[in-house]
Amino acid sequence: MPNEFTVRTHSQEEFIDITNSVKEVVASSHIQKGVAVVYVPHTTAGVTINESADPSVVEDILEVLRRVVPFNFPYRHLEGNASAHIKTSIVGSSISVLVERGNLILGTWQGIFFCEFDGPRTRRVWVDVIGE
Ligand code: ZN
Repeated sequence: MPNEFTVRTHSQEEFIDITNSVKEVVASSHIQKGVAVVYVPHTTAGVTINESADPSVVEDILEVLRRVVPFNFPYRHLEGNASAHIKTSIVGSSISVLVERGNLILGTWQGIFFCEFDGPRTRRVWVDVIGE
């Protein structure tokens, strides 16, 4: 089984910076060179990489997703969370980050964000580090 940690979300929609949690998994793996795969096993939450220095960037991403994929639309999926499913497919369910010298290699402004679209809930994140 992959490493797993949980994310407690507090809003219907929010992006949560999980970079440090992923770094902890990489450190405990003792892998020096390889790739970390971060996978979200949910259909209404995903994961993405974007700017973590200015929190208004992820707020802007969420606002545009809300406009592109409205809550109210004659969706066929009658559970009431069709827009959350669609937003999840737009951002995706996994990301990969290179690992060098035991550390995640991210760009200066990059962070890894858990993307909640149908919260609040307790969510799972799987991380596997592949390498040597
Ligand atoms: Zn649904």
